[in-house]
Amino acid sequence: MTQPAPHELDVVVLGGGSGGYATALRARQLGLSVALVEQDKLGGTCLHQGCIPTKALLHAAEVADAARDANAFGVQATFEGIDMPAVHAYREGVVDRLYRGLQGLIRSAEIEVVAGTGHLVGPRSVAVGDTVVTGKSLVIATGSYARTLPDVEIGGRVVTSDGALTLTEVPRRVVVVGGSVIGVELASVWRSFGAEVTIVEALPRLVPAEDATLSAQLERAFRKRGIAFRTGTAITGVKQDESSAFVTLEGGDVLESDLVLVAVGRGPRTEGLGLADHGIALERGFVVTDERLRTSVEGVYAVGDVVPGLQLAHRGFAHGLFVAEEIAGRNPRPVVDTGIPRVTYCEPELASVGLTEEQARAAYGDSITTYEYNLAGNGKTQILRSAGLVKVVREAEGPVLGVHMIGSRMGEQVGAASLWVNWDAFPEDVAAYVHAHPTQNEALGEAALALAGSPLHAHA
Ligand SMILES: Cc1cc2nc3c(=O)[nH]c(=O)nc-3n(C[C@H](O)[C@H](O)[C@H](O)COP(=O)(O)OP(=O)(O)OC[C@H]3O[C@@H](n4cnc5c(N)ncnc54)[C@H](O)[C@@H]3O)c2cc1C
Repeated sequence: MTQPAPHELDVVVLGGGSGGYATALRARQLGLSVALVEQDKLGGTCLHQGCIPTKALLHAAEVADAARDANAFGVQATFEGIDMPAVHAYREGVVDRLYRGLQGLIRSAEIEVVAGTGHLVGPRSVAVGDTVVTGKSLVIATGSYARTLPDVEIGGRVVTSDGALTLTEVPRRVVVVGGSVIGVELASVWRSFGAEVTIVEALPRLVPAEDATLSAQLERAFRKRGIAFRTGTAITGVKQDESSAFVTLEGGDVLESDLVLVAVGRGPRTEGLGLADHGIALERGFVVTDERLRTSVEGVYAVGDVVPGLQLAHRGFAHGLFVAEEIAGRNPRPVVDTGIPRVTYCEPELASVGLTEEQARAAYGDSITTYEYNLAGNGKTQILRSAGLVKVVREAEGPVLGVHMIGSRMGEQVGAASLWVNWDAFPEDVAAYVHAHPTQNEALGEAALALAGSPLHAHA
């Protein structure tokens, strides 16, 4: 009997999320043959359970706030409530349009999509049922899953972000366990939708990975919005009955609510893939790579959330482009986490790139300078009736090391900040560029002017 010819391609990508599909698309653009193995929907977490659906909810939340506050702008309107089925229809419409577009892109790039759950049957071979695809290179892009805490079972009134996306009604009282990005974003949505929200964070401040100045500003803004929080407080247990959920805090306090969101980070989805069996080194389940995203096995790479570091969709895209170009022999520049912009889309928004003040001090000692431009002096921010600041950290007499911003819609400003940091710009260089008035972009210009010694709408 003749054996079927082994199905060999230039590149096999395991996982069709942000990192995996970006790898596949760029590899095809570079003339390589590609198989993309996906067990669920192309687009992965970002498109179906992450970035896009949560930002749709946050936009609905912004509309709710606008309706509630309309009279402050002289517009007569009444906020009557949230129609959750209609919110979901809007959210699903956004996701569906993007999903159709992505499927079209993958089809027209002639990427072979293998539907099903894959596992390794050789160092560069993936089996899905009876089908085996082998690549000259293999890219692991299986992403991440929502973690929980020991002894905290997910189900019923206790959900992770996955369950939070599809609630059929707005809970009256919510406890959010975890005050990092996902926790504060969903806390912000529920508050805008009318819920009583309490965040419990074990570390001493909300958004603990951000510059401490942003945490302090966010805490102030959340207090004003009526979002309660307990920082420096671990939880010791979660229980539920038919009518309520109960979160017990260190020290014995118990918070009763209708819903508990567990937002304590995301673990790598590598279990059961057979990676270790084929010599691919793992650490706490994450795939170990060097700066060129090579694993411990030649010809095998990893991209996205399975690689330790920032878990962001655009990092996954950047990893994917890098690895495809590396495989094609183009010698691309490695992706460095400190150059990746970060946005937290709660109200007010946080946007940052580069080193925090604390990280810059650790790296450069006292030879750094910081400057904070208060958005009270920014026309557009006043028009939006928002508040916040832009904080720039620079090496004394040197380039910008980090930019940290907070205020309504400030996420949109992160592109300019990212160019400053990634091009090692000196404030003196960028201060010469003119920013349109009235925009929040001007706040970046004002910070550069001040650092260059020539402030305009700020005190010297
Ligand atoms: C609530 C939430 C909000 C977020 N918001 C943002 C945001 O605003 N901005 C941002 O940049 N990032 C955000 N993220 C993070 C972002 O979603 C991830 O960083 C990104 O999706 C990671 O891409 P990835 O390709 O590494 O993994 P994933 O997107 O998780 O994709 C992995 C894919 O692999 C598939 N897969 C896994 N195992 C197998 C297998 N054995 N066989 C076949 N297929 C498999 C999965 O089905 C999945 O489709 C958010 C995440 C969450 C949860």
